[in-house]
Amino acid sequence: MAKFKYHFNPVSLSYDRVTTSVRTWFWRVFTFFTATLAISVGYYAVFTYFFDSPKEQILTRELRQMEFQYELLNKKLSLIEDVMKEIQERDDNIYRSIFESEPIPSSVRQAGFGGVNRYEHLLGYGNSRLMVETSTRVDKITKQLYVQSKSFDEVVELLKNKEDILASTPAIRPIRELKYVASGYGMRLHPIYKTMHFHQGMDFAAPIGTDVIATADGKVVETDYRNYNRGYGLMIRIDHGYGYTTLYGHLSDILVRRGEQVKRGQIIAKVGNTGQSTGPHLHYEVHKSGRVMNPMGYYFNDLTPAEYDQMLQMASTGKTFD
Ligand SMILES: [Zn+2]
Repeated sequence: MAKFKYHFNPVSLSYDRVTTSVRTWFWRVFTFFTATLAISVGYYAVFTYFFDSPKEQILTRELRQMEFQYELLNKKLSLIEDVMKEIQERDDNIYRSIFESEPIPSSVRQAGFGGVNRYEHLLGYGNSRLMVETSTRVDKITKQLYVQSKSFDEVVELLKNKEDILASTPAIRPIRELKYVASGYGMRLHPIYKTMHFHQGMDFAAPIGTDVIATADGKVVETDYRNYNRGYGLMIRIDHGYGYTTLYGHLSDILVRRGEQVKRGQIIAKVGNTGQSTGPHLHYEVHKSGRVMNPMGYYFNDLTPAEYDQMLQMASTGKTFD
C-alpha cells in the first residue's frame, strides 16, 4: 500500500497530495545514509577504543597464556640446566678420579653457535626476546646433551680398557725399599752447575746394585748402553701405552732388551752412578702425553697416606743428585 502525504490548502479548503521531486527524495536518502554511517563509525570507534572485540579478547587471552607458558618453560629449563651441570661435574670427576684422564674441556661443553643469526625468524615481534632466549637455551641444552652422550660412550670404552689402563699406569716406586729416600721434582739447585734448573724427576738415593723395578706394564723402547744419553748415563725408557712413559737413569746395569715387554714390579736394572750424577742414585721420570709429570702423583699402589706424607716432605726439600 503506497503512502501519500497530503497538504491542507486553506485557499481551496481541500487536501492536496504532496508530490516530492526526485531531487528532494534523493537528497533525503543521501542525508539519511550519511548520518547513519557517521553515527555507526562514531560508535564503532568509541567501542573499539574502550572494548576489545570478542575475537581480540580471545587472541589476547591466548597470548597471555602463551607468555605464561614460555615463562614456565624457562623455569623448567633452569632446572634442566642445573641437572645438566651436575651430570657434567660428575662426568668430569669420573674422568679425573677413575681414569686419571683429562675431562672434556668446558669450552667444548659450553660451545655456542657462532656465525649467522639462527634466530632471525623470531625477531621483530613483541615477544622476540622471550622466544629467542628460550630457543637459545633449548638449543644449548640439546648440544650439551649430545656432548654428554658422546662422553658416556667414551667412558664405556675406558671402562672396557680399565684393567689394562690400571696395569699400564705407573703406580709404585721404582725402588722397593722404603728406607731409600727420594727427593726433588721441581726447581732445584743443580748439584754440578750450581744453577737453578727444573728437575724433571725424582732421585732415589740407594747403593749401587740396588734393584730398579718397572712401575707399570709396558714395552722397553729405549736402552742406552753406549751414548750415556743426555746426562742420564745408562738409562731405560718404557712405553706403557695410554700416553704414559717412564724413564730410569744413572743405572749401573740394564737387565732388559729394547722391545721387551715388562710387567709391573719386574726388576729391569741396577742402581748406579753413571752420567751426570753426584752420587749413587736412581733418577726416575714419569711422562703423560708428552708432558713431564711429578712422580709423586704415581705411587698410589704402594704408599700409605703417612708414607706418602713423609715422602712428599723429603721430595720437596731434599737435594737432588740429578
Ligand atoms: Zn735426578
